[in-house]
Amino acid sequence: MPAAYLRRSASRGGKARAKVLTAEERHERATSSRGSLEEAAMTYSTEDFVRRAAGGILRGNKYRGKFVCLPCLVTMTLARLHPGWRQSEIERAMDKVSETPGAMTYLPTFICALCQKTMPCLGAPHR
Ligand SMILES: [Zn+2]
Repeated sequence: MPAAYLRRSASRGGKARAKVLTAEERHERATSSRGSLEEAAMTYSTEDFVRRAAGGILRGNKYRGKFVCLPCLVTMTLARLHPGWRQSEIERAMDKVSETPGAMTYLPTFICALCQKTMPCLGAPHR
């Protein structure tokens, strides 16, 4: 699984590239990965893990009150979670989290505190 992750990561050509998939790409991803039923069943727990990891990062000392883009959050989440996760799973879950951010705040266009690029960002507001 680390090999697959590295290959995918290398082919992305830049860690902060905006992710826009065409319908064909989505279809290709869905059909090329093993067991779509299994993936559907895993969606909730993956989203839950990613939501908690992202929330933890955004409430930590380093990023409290700041906004971090989705690609940077995916990278940090991958680093936090155990190495069995695939980047594609984390990206998909991060998309879901951005659609229903809950206690976090989602800004479709903001400057990332980490990579300084204007990207869709998530942050945890001050309380
Ligand atoms: Zn970033």
